[in-house]
Amino acid sequence: MTTTNRIGLYLHIPFCLRKCRYCDFLSFPCSDENILSEYTQALIREISIKGSEWPYKVVDSIYIGGGTPSILSAENVAAIMDSVREHFTVDEFAEITIECNPATANEEKLRRFRETGINRISIGVQSWDNSVLKLMGRAHDKNDAFTAVRNAKKAGFENINIDLMFGIPGQTMKMWRDSIRQCIFLRPQHISLYSLQVEEGTAFYKMIYEDNIMTETSDFVDRRMYHDASLMLEDAGYNLYEISNAALPGYESRHNDKYWSYQEYLGLGLGASSFIGGVRYKNCSDMISYLDHIKASEAPVDIEDIEKYSKRDEMGVFVFTGLRKKEGINIREFENIFGVEFFKVYDPSLINIYFGYLDFDGTILKLTDKGKDISSRVMAEFV
Ligand code: SF4
Repeated sequence: MTTTNRIGLYLHIPFCLRKCRYCDFLSFPCSDENILSEYTQALIREISIKGSEWPYKVVDSIYIGGGTPSILSAENVAAIMDSVREHFTVDEFAEITIECNPATANEEKLRRFRETGINRISIGVQSWDNSVLKLMGRAHDKNDAFTAVRNAKKAGFENINIDLMFGIPGQTMKMWRDSIRQCIFLRPQHISLYSLQVEEGTAFYKMIYEDNIMTETSDFVDRRMYHDASLMLEDAGYNLYEISNAALPGYESRHNDKYWSYQEYLGLGLGASSFIGGVRYKNCSDMISYLDHIKASEAPVDIEDIEKYSKRDEMGVFVFTGLRKKEGINIREFENIFGVEFFKVYDPSLINIYFGYLDFDGTILKLTDKGKDISSRVMAEFV
């Protein structure tokens, strides 16, 4: 672990307007204000419990994710932010992000989010094509998405991320390129591009593998979509600084970097994961257990899930996540953290086996553009 007194906070809000057809995140459809407020109060209680455990840590990034955090009222979000500031030391230049579904983003609410000190908004647009949005089961259409971006700008957000997805069944190259073009036109500071993963238990999985009413996008088309988008974004001045993330210079996400650069983060809320003090653990994913722990003033940790990764496991995490970054990993940093030579742990012949896919200059190891297409295979060699 990179030793520092700085940490990131992740706050999980597990509620959405409805369940999207591809989603296997820990989230439930709910817009009952009483339930949302009860959960907010539990989260605030957890913030107070955890803040006292890490009094000397300085928080330099906060990410309110979900789910759909923007489903919460402005009052609830303000109460969460007040609590974080009361129980943690928050750096005055902290990056503070909230995820937002376009169907929940009226201007007044976004303005009030901004007033709490939240300075970055991540809008789940996913596509600018209404037929694709409908198939995905999203709760918004493209007009809602335009309005959300406009409202975010009017509310004073100067650091906006737009999430887009590709590889959706029925999504053509033209639809995808149009979505990228539209995004570039709106000029958000950050764009995330995610390839659809069809996960078991989702409605998409059933539609593809059980009901056979649609087919999964081929790897060939998926990769073409990725490379087309990369070129278009780079031509427009965006830096593809991580496999799935592009930013205008200076707007790379600090929150994301915590995960890719082997830094500490504390996850609060239902099912949230943490990596702090050399230990990885997860909160309970069951709402009743989570609330019971909080009522008893206990940390809502899933005891069975506490994992003290072995040193070898941690090395794998360092390399696996670091290779996602355009800059790759510095093997000297690896050696400083783990106290062992990189090529005493990993077979040096991997560099030759993956020639053309991996680039190594003696210090920096990174994926080439070709390597990104088989990133899971290459990264798996280092786990
Ligand atoms: S809005 Fe996000 S978290 Fe909620 S169901 Fe859709 S994909 Fe899942």
